[in-house]
Amino acid sequence: MEITSETSPLLRTHGAVLPLRKTKAVQVGDIKIGGPDFSVIAGPCSIESYGQFLETAQGVKNSGAVLLRGGIWKMRTSAKAFQGLGSEALHFIRNVLDQTKMGLVTEVTDPRQIEVLDDYVAMYQVGARNMFNYALLKELGMSRKPIMLKRGFSALIEEWIKAAEYISLGGNEGIVLCERGIRTFETATRYTFDLNAVIFAKARTHYPVIVDPSHAVGIREFVPKVALAAAAVGADGVIVEVHPRPEEALSDGKQALTLEDFKILMKQIEGVLSALNHPLQKL
Ligand code: PEP
Ligand code: MN
Repeated sequence: MEITSETSPLLRTHGAVLPLRKTKAVQVGDIKIGGPDFSVIAGPCSIESYGQFLETAQGVKNSGAVLLRGGIWKMRTSAKAFQGLGSEALHFIRNVLDQTKMGLVTEVTDPRQIEVLDDYVAMYQVGARNMFNYALLKELGMSRKPIMLKRGFSALIEEWIKAAEYISLGGNEGIVLCERGIRTFETATRYTFDLNAVIFAKARTHYPVIVDPSHAVGIREFVPKVALAAAAVGADGVIVEVHPRPEEALSDGKQALTLEDFKILMKQIEGVLSALNHPLQKL
């Protein structure tokens, strides 16, 4: 049964009557998300320089990441904060991707960026702040590249799933859902990681579901624990922020893992996955 406006009220009955759905894997370059394997995406919050991006890319690849993240245009709360390098980053990104042979996951914040980004991107990221930007989602529905759709931090699970339909109705079926924490009354952590949403979306939709532990908790020392919880409940992967020198990061340094932290996390993820007979995807 498809989740449509007719069937969606069923979601409000605690999901009990929606049938179980088998995940349909999404091809992202040479990588498959939502197939038998668990996929780890890693990289900096923002691409800051050629050196920073290359060092991070090489480091996360050596530890086992299969896709590289890196923000080019950033959605910052303050207009005065670093907004990303923008098109300046395009001068050196190809070089980093070629050297590391990794696919890029980056956020598209404006439909006008699609044309320039399309040559560089393996998967577009729709950020939490844009989950309700239906004009953007419709444009991405016409793209042939897969889309990682982050859950808005105030979005119901139902709204998140319906947002995905704005993409699929345009003809683009390559959608990966990403839970990245929601806003609750709690302020001790940056957001509140909604583990239920991962379990629910995984069971009741056909989309692969991944977790962003970095934004979900926002505190470096807790990020690995959230990532391990994601692996334990059967998420299809994680997307993790990593910076070679987090104290120098131009965005989200407090939640960035060092390359060494990331290496340790990869070993721990492998341990959790092996207990569940869930293979870790390798390049
Ligand atoms: C990010 O991935 O750096 C980001 C801004 O994420 P979100 O949209 O989830 O806040
Ligand atoms: Mn970030």
